[in-house]
Amino acid sequence: MGFEIIRSIVEMQHIADNLRKHGKRIGVVPTMGYLHNGHASLIHAAAAVADAVIVTLFVNPMQFAANEDLSRYPRDFEKDCLIAEQAGAHYLFAPSVEEMYPDGFATTISIKGITEKFEGVHRPTHFDGVATVVAKLFTASKPHVAVFGQKDYQQTLVIKRLVADLNLDIEIIIQPTIREPEGLAMSSRNVYLSDEQQNQSLVISKAITEALKAVQSGVRNREQLNSILKTTLKTLENIEIHYAAAANAETLDEPDMFSEEDSIVFLVAVKIGSTRLIDNAVWNPKQKP
Ligand code: AMP
Repeated sequence: MGFEIIRSIVEMQHIADNLRKHGKRIGVVPTMGYLHNGHASLIHAAAAVADAVIVTLFVNPMQFAANEDLSRYPRDFEKDCLIAEQAGAHYLFAPSVEEMYPDGFATTISIKGITEKFEGVHRPTHFDGVATVVAKLFTASKPHVAVFGQKDYQQTLVIKRLVADLNLDIEIIIQPTIREPEGLAMSSRNVYLSDEQQNQSLVISKAITEALKAVQSGVRNREQLNSILKTTLKTLENIEIHYAAAANAETLDEPDMFSEEDSIVFLVAVKIGSTRLIDNAVWNPKQKP
């Protein structure tokens, strides 16, 4: 099928219509570019279940607050093309900001509940931006299936809510987090970290591993689990903890005690220097890690 770069929404829709007319299954992988092995694993997963794979590349201003890193978000278009094609993409849909948000654009998709905790507290308009852009990327690429990473755990719940509430006929696949050999979750933002900070940031995956061990050994008291996360994180002096919390993995509820049947997610967001990093892991009582 080759590899094509598409800039226009109308052209993307035309291609998607044609693919559908020929009975092809379309898989989409939304990204903000600066692709790494985590993105590549999503593209592989899409290629395994779809005939045509569209990677979208759009650094979405609507999901960044004024004080965030939009203007310095890392970019490398040529490398992204290589990684996307090698991982199995057939199209790279990379619209401009003007193409996505022309003059007069006035719609926001706002999801209540699940968006109001954790990331939502620290980035109050973030998930409105995510839901709105993902809905637009879906109407541009008309996928049968869309693949997202567990790395952005709360985002996966937001996307599932969006798809259910708007009756979007799209299957959502979530892929596990790809990590550096020492444990740091891969992220485009890791490029901001100095070598020393990269090393320091291992405390995040360590904290989550400690919490997983505790739940494995029978701890269900939420405060106790949270304190295990925080104690490990605080072994690093210059860390700013935005949240480090155990929650019900499906609802993000925070009961005093989890039940034996609850899937539990450990959610962490910290700042090391000026770089904000997030990570998580899910403990599922049926599939022990
Ligand atoms: P981003 O480009 O950071 O917006 O991420 C695009 C998609 O890649 C999202 O669905 C992310 O959850 C996913 N992703 C980012 N980092 C990883 C990773 N380390 N492993 C798996 N998926 C990832």
